[in-house]
Amino acid sequence: MKPVPLATPDTQEWLDRIDAGELTVPRCTACASSFLYPRSSCPRCGARSVELVPAAGTGVLLSFVVNHRAPAGFEAPYALGVVRLAEGPHLTGVVRTDRPDLLEVDAAVRVGFEERGERRVVCFDLEEAGR
Ligand SMILES: [Zn+2]
Repeated sequence: MKPVPLATPDTQEWLDRIDAGELTVPRCTACASSFLYPRSSCPRCGARSVELVPAAGTGVLLSFVVNHRAPAGFEAPYALGVVRLAEGPHLTGVVRTDRPDLLEVDAAVRVGFEERGERRVVCFDLEEAGR
């Protein structure tokens, strides 16, 4: 079984909205900074007024690793990428592709969701190929 994130008070709503099929990005209502991971205070100005804003669902692959020795529940080879979302913050997730050997940094990706039991997790699909 693939792992699923465990909610904390700071991440509960963010994860619940992912379960509902919506990626959001936390944004400070005082200084307008967007950030991840979700937390109750702004990492830039310290304000404790944070709202979750719907994300565009697009991004760029900043870095990735192709894992050839899959842990339980995963099928090798698979790619794990760090994506810079259109809103700016970075998010890590599996990049779904049949050809991880062809991945390139700066590739355009779109946010997707993977069902894992009762939870959903964020993953990424390549914009051009679709998968
Ligand atoms: Zn702030």
